[in-house]
Amino acid sequence: MDAFDIQHQREYIEYSKEVHGYSKAIGKILDLSESYIPDAEKAYREGKKNAIWCGAVGWVVPLVYACDTVPIAFGEMGRLSDKEVMLIAEDYYQFPSETCSMVKCVVGQWHLRKDTTGIKRILGNSSACEPYNLAWEVMKNEGYDVYNNDVIYRGASVDGKRLEKLVEFFVGEIHGVVEWLTGSSKIDEEKLALELKRKNRLLAKMRQILDLRLTRPLYVKSLATILMLNVGLNNYFGKPEEYEAALDLLIEELENTPVDEEQLKKVIPLVWAGGTGQEFGIYEAIDQAGGALLGLRSVPFKSFREDVPPVEALARFVYDNQGAGAGVYARNVIELELEKTKAQGLILYGYIGCSFGSVDREMWREYFHKKGIPSINLEGSFQTGAPSGQVLTRVKAFVEMLS
Ligand code: SF4
Repeated sequence: MDAFDIQHQREYIEYSKEVHGYSKAIGKILDLSESYIPDAEKAYREGKKNAIWCGAVGWVVPLVYACDTVPIAFGEMGRLSDKEVMLIAEDYYQFPSETCSMVKCVVGQWHLRKDTTGIKRILGNSSACEPYNLAWEVMKNEGYDVYNNDVIYRGASVDGKRLEKLVEFFVGEIHGVVEWLTGSSKIDEEKLALELKRKNRLLAKMRQILDLRLTRPLYVKSLATILMLNVGLNNYFGKPEEYEAALDLLIEELENTPVDEEQLKKVIPLVWAGGTGQEFGIYEAIDQAGGALLGLRSVPFKSFREDVPPVEALARFVYDNQGAGAGVYARNVIELELEKTKAQGLILYGYIGCSFGSVDREMWREYFHKKGIPSINLEGSFQTGAPSGQVLTRVKAFVEMLS
């Protein structure tokens, strides 16, 4: 398969499997990524597993698993879509064409699935953004059971008593989610504690993988890196045991891979500061230009606390991490990643139509520019199909400029 003949995200995953033919572990991770949604929907239809649609990141995931439910990341429907799906949101639901393509894509998918998936429950989040707030309302009208927890936001100067009040508030929110999910606000703390241990174990394994990648930077290429970290580490693709086994195997493979000093001299370490872009060709352009995504800002690198009750640990995790609200929290993570990976450049990626994302990116660009770190600020679309030639040319030119 030739990378530049590829027209669809699913083909990129197949291509990535071919490229990683030497690694059983990466093949398994890519398989898990591909089968995440179809397998969760099938298990639900057959009555084997409960499942809900949700963002499937951060605090939500251990909580939902602890309620014997599979969290399905609705954003992952992006790669299953095509332009017709976007048109459903625009023509049927009258979303303005300039609305963020991620939201339009997800709405179109829920529309198509409403009579087939069976999974009619959506855990939304009022913190997300206005387009998603609109989506929740639209889907309620279509017969979905939608629940939103309240806004999460910790201002940059919030500490001490004000932080404790936020934690207390969020503990109440967590109980509200559980009541919607199970019919009772009572949380099985033993199960939740086990899920937090699992998450901390997986985070530790991922840190080990990332450290091994510093000296074996091209073993896991860019697309597989994004899927393994931005998706898999968040929700385990709906199959926690299989995901963990794949990480164990990857650690073994990396440890048995000799360090190639020549490769280390040539490679261009990069940090990716953005969401899981669905324009998979961008990752291919990075690989072809000799870049390696060694650092990311969107993965929860902090562990859940195990010295406090598990529900409190969930709330503290929210406010102690880069998703707490103010852009400075994420910027600190980016800065640490740049230092750790000795990155030569920063790729800032966001979606067209996302106003708050573009403000953050602009602030980060300016901050790192003053520190002498080159960056490229890309705006892409969530829709399917090959990315535009202009985006690919910019990415390749940026990476090559750094070499
Ligand atoms: S990219 Fe921005 S506008 Fe789009 S869904 Fe995410 S937060 Fe909302």
